[in-house]
Amino acid sequence: MPRARRPDAHRCIECACFGGRPVFCYHEGKVENGAAYWSDRGTLCSPPCSLTPHRKREAEGTLSQVPALNPFHIPSRQ
Ligand SMILES: [Zn+2]
Repeated sequence: MPRARRPDAHRCIECACFGGRPVFCYHEGKVENGAAYWSDRGTLCSPPCSLTPHRKREAEGTLSQVPALNPFHIPSRQ
């Protein structure tokens, strides 16, 4: 039985805008494909929102060393 998507999967962790806004980028432009940008901390709406925390974490040295899990594809086991 499929699990519900994370309730915050359509909200940008950087600017807090919600999916559906014009700025929100979806993979290949389709909502059903999920967000085009995300990190291990959550969904990101656009390239600027993706780069800002990346640079901040690069400076802090807290960048994740492994690829982030797509919040739109929840694994069946955790
Ligand atoms: Zn954003």
